[in-house]
This record gives sequence, structure tokens and C-alpha cells, in this order.
Amino acid sequence: MSDKPDFLICALADVEFVAQGSKFDRFCSRCHKAVALAPSGQRLLKQQPELLILCFPCYLQDKEARAEEVQLSSNPQEIAAEIKSAVPNLRRNRN
Ligand SMILES: [Zn+2]
Repeated sequence: MSDKPDFLICALADVEFVAQGSKFDRFCSRCHKAVALAPSGQRLLKQQPELLILCFPCYLQDKEARAEEVQLSSNPQEIAAEIKSAVPNLRRNRN
């Protein structure tokens, strides 16, 4: 592992669809907006609590983060299953 912090890139909590079992109690380390954390991301964060959470917009604006390798939060099969089982984000219409 490198000495630089690694990033966990997440969708913002107001996206239209989320993986089943997503949680919304984590926040982007830069803009502090709530993010949607899929079960694979939740597990990764438990294993590597030092990960910095970045939302998509912040990631895209962050040269340092973009210079890093992008890694999957889990194995491709699990991520594909999360995408396939994605559900409408009920949180989205709640204010
Ligand atoms: Zn952000």
C-alpha cells in the first residue's frame, strides 16, 4: 500500500438508483454532502477505515485523486450483482 491516502469514490446520496442495502450516513471528505454507500463499499470501509470518501463530482475535480489508480470496492461479480439489483433511491424524494 502507498503512503498516500486512498480514496473511496461514492455516488452522492441523491442519485436516482442505489444498490440494495445502501447506507447514507457517510459524507464526502471534501464537500461534506451525504453519499450513497453500497454494501461492498461499507465492507471495504470496515476493512480500511482510513479511506477518504470522495463523491463523484469532487473526484472529477480533484487532480490528486484522479492521478491515483481507480480500484473496485469489491470483486467485479459482487459489483455487477449490486448494479443488477439496484433499486430506486427512496431517500431522494424525502426532504
Ligand atoms: Zn464531494
